[in-house]
Amino acid sequence: MNYHCYYHYTCPRCGEAFVPYAEGVVCPQCGEPTAEVYDIVGEIIWAVKYHLGLYGELKLRYFQVTGIGDQYLFLGFTELDSFRRNVDVDIPTRVQKALARLKFVRTEAWRKHYEGFFTLLFQRWREERYLP
Ligand SMILES: [Zn+2]
Repeated sequence: MNYHCYYHYTCPRCGEAFVPYAEGVVCPQCGEPTAEVYDIVGEIIWAVKYHLGLYGELKLRYFQVTGIGDQYLFLGFTELDSFRRNVDVDIPTRVQKALARLKFVRTEAWRKHYEGFFTLLFQRWREERYLP
């Protein structure tokens, strides 16, 4: 896949890099409210559909993570690849499985951050996967 997400956001208070993926998302490092929202979930869903249309699968064999946006993109692709094959599984169960695979999550605040991200991703995938 040659597609990349170049979105970048750093907390104005502590400098932590993350993606404010929805209204109300705060900095997972210091709790500072974010100054903006970036619809990375919508971007991931678009990219996943495009990728599936081209290749018929979601394996990212040569994908190089270039920044924080790419990290969410990579996680989104990886988790949607298994979620889309098991669409009857309930979302909270799938979210917990996705979180269990994130070995780099250091704190409870970061765990909550990704919990919200995966929940939104799976919900929107169910709603939007057949939309043009
Ligand atoms: Zn912060």
